[in-house]
Amino acid sequence: MNDLIKSIRTRSIIEKYGFRFNKSLGQNFLIDDLVLKTIIEAAEITKDDSVLEIGPGIGTLTLELSGNAGKVMAIEVDKNLIPILSDVLKDAGNVKLYEGDALKVNIKEAAGDFLNFPITICANLPYYITTPLITKFFKESIDVKNIVVMVQKEVAERMAAQPGGKDYGALSLLVQYYSKPRIVAKVPPHCFMPRPKVDSVVIKLEINKRPPVEVEDLELFFSIIRDSFNQRRKTLSNSLKSLKLSKEELNTAFEKSGIDPIRRGETLSIEEFARVSNEVYNLRK
Ligand code: SAM
Repeated sequence: MNDLIKSIRTRSIIEKYGFRFNKSLGQNFLIDDLVLKTIIEAAEITKDDSVLEIGPGIGTLTLELSGNAGKVMAIEVDKNLIPILSDVLKDAGNVKLYEGDALKVNIKEAAGDFLNFPITICANLPYYITTPLITKFFKESIDVKNIVVMVQKEVAERMAAQPGGKDYGALSLLVQYYSKPRIVAKVPPHCFMPRPKVDSVVIKLEINKRPPVEVEDLELFFSIIRDSFNQRRKTLSNSLKSLKLSKEELNTAFEKSGIDPIRRGETLSIEEFARVSNEVYNLRK
């Protein structure tokens, strides 16, 4: 189906059901066939795979996933879309539709016996909750193989950023602790209906089989990272006063980890953050 037909189909579905876009739910529906194929290819989906989709909209990506995967579970929060989805997906026997807020749903419970773990996550994400959703996928120890999602271009750049640049921050380190991010394709606004005001990107997060660094206490590691980027201009020794260690103890932690305390968080690699956090952990033991 070419893009013009897909855009006519999207419009006719919307008119048929009298659907009104809800801006606050980040509703920008995909109308570009090539982008759909790019997502399927990047996720390397086969008939053996179980896929979780967040925010199926009117089911455009869901149908494509259904044709390529073994099972698909799609979580949609907007109850006005449920009758449309039930109709559009009525012949897709391998799709389970779940009405709910993806941030609140217990994915393992919702999937029950339907999905076979490890799963692949594919979505054209609602941009207003990209970071909490990605955090949820990583931290709730859901068994995930790969994540291939459409996100705002700037967010993808932050996920893939390396030390030293303005995009590097807590999100880069979270994503890179759990996965290897790779920007797959840039997607301009005309690929959506309605057109978003921002550029978009398909990004693949290939889940790490083993983390790139050994960390004694993950909560401490991520809280040190958060504090180091809270005020980017501050030196590490000032940012990490929040740890409530004495000046001497903090200096010992920096010395033992071989990090100069006048450096700023944005210059530290993931290995260096792991070293500082493990030294602080040892001091507190
Ligand atoms: N997948 C469709 C497509 O590509 O055409 C729609 C993508 S649209 C960018 C985002 C979708 O996520 C919308 O259908 C919206 O209603 C849904 N959504 C927004 N917030 C959500 C949430 N918290 N949980 C589940 N779905 C949500």
